[in-house]
Amino acid sequence: MQAFAYSKPASLADAAYAAKGANAKLVAGGQSLLGAMKLGLAAPEALIDLADLADLKGITVSGGFVKIGAMTTHAEVAASAEVAKAIPALADLAGNIGDRQVRNRGTIGGSLANNDPAACYPAAVLGLGATVHTNTRSIAADDFFKGLYETALAEGEIITAVSFPVPDKAGWQKFKQPASRFSIVGVFVSKGAQGVRVAVTGAGAGVFRAKDLESRLAGNWAAAALAGATVSADGLNSDLHGSAEYRAALIPVLAGRAVSAS
Ligand SMILES: Cc1cc2nc3c(=O)[nH]c(=O)nc-3n(C[C@H](O)[C@H](O)[C@H](O)COP(=O)(O)OP(=O)(O)OC[C@H]3O[C@@H](n4cnc5c(N)ncnc54)[C@H](O)[C@@H]3O)c2cc1C
Repeated sequence: MQAFAYSKPASLADAAYAAKGANAKLVAGGQSLLGAMKLGLAAPEALIDLADLADLKGITVSGGFVKIGAMTTHAEVAASAEVAKAIPALADLAGNIGDRQVRNRGTIGGSLANNDPAACYPAAVLGLGATVHTNTRSIAADDFFKGLYETALAEGEIITAVSFPVPDKAGWQKFKQPASRFSIVGVFVSKGAQGVRVAVTGAGAGVFRAKDLESRLAGNWAAAALAGATVSADGLNSDLHGSAEYRAALIPVLAGRAVSAS
């Protein structure tokens, strides 16, 4: 790992200023960034630690929305009685990310900014039609994810919170890699003011919506509505965990189970 300068700003404004520095990187739980640095995949000259930004922590439920601060850990979301009441599928998703150690350090902001193609939170954000708030603007889920580890974030832009609309129904199912527990395929489904949404992670270069499954479920919110549904394997991932065809076959199956669990 190359040497780097380290700072822990006490305010969002100071963090945003420091993050604009050349080759500076924000660090939250470090669960993805430090691993990448150890492997030489990232070599920032400066690390800007967000740990002291109290405004970026916490969970509130009001006006039909669950708002989660970017520095809130997976474990805190999983343990939140408010999240479990408002969107149980979201608490379930957070509680099944990685292992206990990862959940106690990793944050929702870091997960979304990293946008790993097999990450879980992107499926919930796209699957619920959430809004990602940053220090400069608010970005709709459909405009946030830009493919493999890419997002709409500008250099140095800081995610501050995420607002999830509370749906009438929502479900999450993940077929996980046994070691890391990342999604080989994960499907988040919801029905609410935003209509029906079906978001798939782990299967492609990044999270995406399965529009055909959405229209089937819009007509009938039941696993039976997905009987005989197929998803094209074109562009899906093939790796040691499974072929593109295998992942394509899993998507409607997991979507049906998520609907049944909703
Ligand atoms: C063994 C292991 C298993 C895992 N299993 C899973 C799993 O099953 N499912 C899953 O979804 N994830 C899994 N993860 C990843 C985990 O969820 C990480 O916590 C997450 O990817 C990154 O969050 P972090 O807070 O640790 O971010 P960091 O590693 O600190 O940062 C990640 C990236 O985001 C940027 N960043 C961080 N915070 C912000 C912010 N507020 N605004 C803008 N940019 C920001 C950083 O600059 C960096 O580029 C696993 C990780 C490990 C090590």
